[in-house]
Amino acid sequence: MYDVVIIGAGIVGTMLARDLSRYRLKVALIDKENDIADGATMANSAIVHTGYDPEDNTMKAKMNVAGAKLYPSICKDLHCAYKVIGAYVAAVDEEEEAHQYVLAARAERRGIPYAFLSGEEARKEEPNLNESITRVLSFPTTAIIYPWEVAIACAQVAVNNRTDLFLNTECRDIKRTADGYTVITDNQDMETRIVINASGIGAEHIYSMVGKPNFHITPRKGEYFVIDQSADFVHHVVFPVPSSKGKGVLAVPTVYGNTLLGPNSDYVSGTIDTGDTFQGLDYVRDNINRTMKSVPMNKVIRTFAGLRPSSSSSDFIIEEAADAPGFINAASIESPGLASAPGISRYIIDEILKDRLILEENPEAVMTRPAPVVMKDLNNEERQEMIRKNPAYGRIICRCEQISEGEIIDCIRAVCGARSVKGVKKRVRPGMGRCQGGFCEPRVVEILARELHITPMEVVLDSKKSEIIEKENR
Ligand SMILES: Cc1cc2nc3c(=O)[nH]c(=O)nc-3n(C[C@H](O)[C@H](O)[C@H](O)COP(=O)(O)OP(=O)(O)OC[C@H]3O[C@@H](n4cnc5c(N)ncnc54)[C@H](O)[C@@H]3O)c2cc1C
Repeated sequence: MYDVVIIGAGIVGTMLARDLSRYRLKVALIDKENDIADGATMANSAIVHTGYDPEDNTMKAKMNVAGAKLYPSICKDLHCAYKVIGAYVAAVDEEEEAHQYVLAARAERRGIPYAFLSGEEARKEEPNLNESITRVLSFPTTAIIYPWEVAIACAQVAVNNRTDLFLNTECRDIKRTADGYTVITDNQDMETRIVINASGIGAEHIYSMVGKPNFHITPRKGEYFVIDQSADFVHHVVFPVPSSKGKGVLAVPTVYGNTLLGPNSDYVSGTIDTGDTFQGLDYVRDNINRTMKSVPMNKVIRTFAGLRPSSSSSDFIIEEAADAPGFINAASIESPGLASAPGISRYIIDEILKDRLILEENPEAVMTRPAPVVMKDLNNEERQEMIRKNPAYGRIICRCEQISEGEIIDCIRAVCGARSVKGVKKRVRPGMGRCQGGFCEPRVVEILARELHITPMEVVLDSKKSEIIEKENR
């Protein structure tokens, strides 16, 4: 019998799994996909917002401020990238400047550093800011991360501390029992005292298995262009002044030196897909010009889209369901859900689970993970030493990102290791560069096949049934 079953291995579920693994509890983390962080956590702007945007007295504001404070130490402990680059909220007229005061007042109340810059001052820092920008509200402590890196690292810590991780495991139904619930999946049934619903766009459906949902989820798509690292375009996150429709189209530097342009905001009905659209990308292209000039569209290397779990509730829903004791919703976690995830996890443990479970710390729990080898970050001597010990670190597979065979093997053999081409790409980045896998993907397929003891024809791109090679030609 489990103490806790967490449904959903996105940033919320994995963060919670890591935090719970500190205690003497029996915990399972399940996800229907073939890898950790394949939902909203995989496709977003990757910003750790400081918390000035959500309205007062909301869970969004409370969780965002708490989460943003926790990220630096979490990323340090997990050896994950965390870059403080600052954000500019750029106004074009008096009406927008007036709204900047609202945001500044919220920041003041929440202890978040901010400063006003004239258009000229801001353009000295960001030469590609549009001439039409009259004033910028700067939030210097805004940071960027690599969201799935943090989620994978959290899952690794949890699994090392004896959490059971079940991927390719879809929750199909949940039945009440005398002691809690049975989570029925396509693989096995799990008895548990507590269920935590961290299933993103699936949250309404999962809750409806045990109660009457008090929220309705409609996925809302956000699409992006990815600009090549060679374009020295922007160094801060640049937002327009937010409107009732959201944060608008941003220019966002990524941890590895690319730039994201996006997202749009379109509700999705019918079939849920994360494909990008002409209309969505056209909207991004048109609206980025509101804040930025000389946009290097000739350096676009990729487009992608993510789905926000937008809901009829404008706030996060983080509570034990009134009609299902021991069933806890972490639902309606749209932006700033990434920034808030550490806060959400602590809130669930400190405010909800502490009354339901005995939270006895396990002195053997290790909350950190060893630093992965990143050859690109080593100096020449260190690199030579690594290659001497293991020649695979000297064989470059991804030329764009300079990733060696040794690093790819490491990420497959690691706890919660990669099981697909996309899984390798998420962990060590081959295919993220300018050629988008054109040169390295066949080599990655070979390495995966060798390491997983399968044939290249069985290697999948991403999900369980996404084989890449259809048949042998000779
Ligand atoms: C376009 C866009 C931009 C964003 N930008 C930012 C940003 O810059 N900063 C920020 O703070 N937030 C941002 N967000 C929001 C943030 O990405 C989300 O709030 C966060 O990732 C939600 O995490 P989660 O773990 O709740 O959900 P998810 O990451 O979606 O994880 C839910 C998991 O549940 C699994 N699941 C669903 N149903 C089942 C089932 N039946 N059985 C088993 N598993 C199931 C899914 O496979 C999935 O892996 C953005 C979101 C989008 C889409």
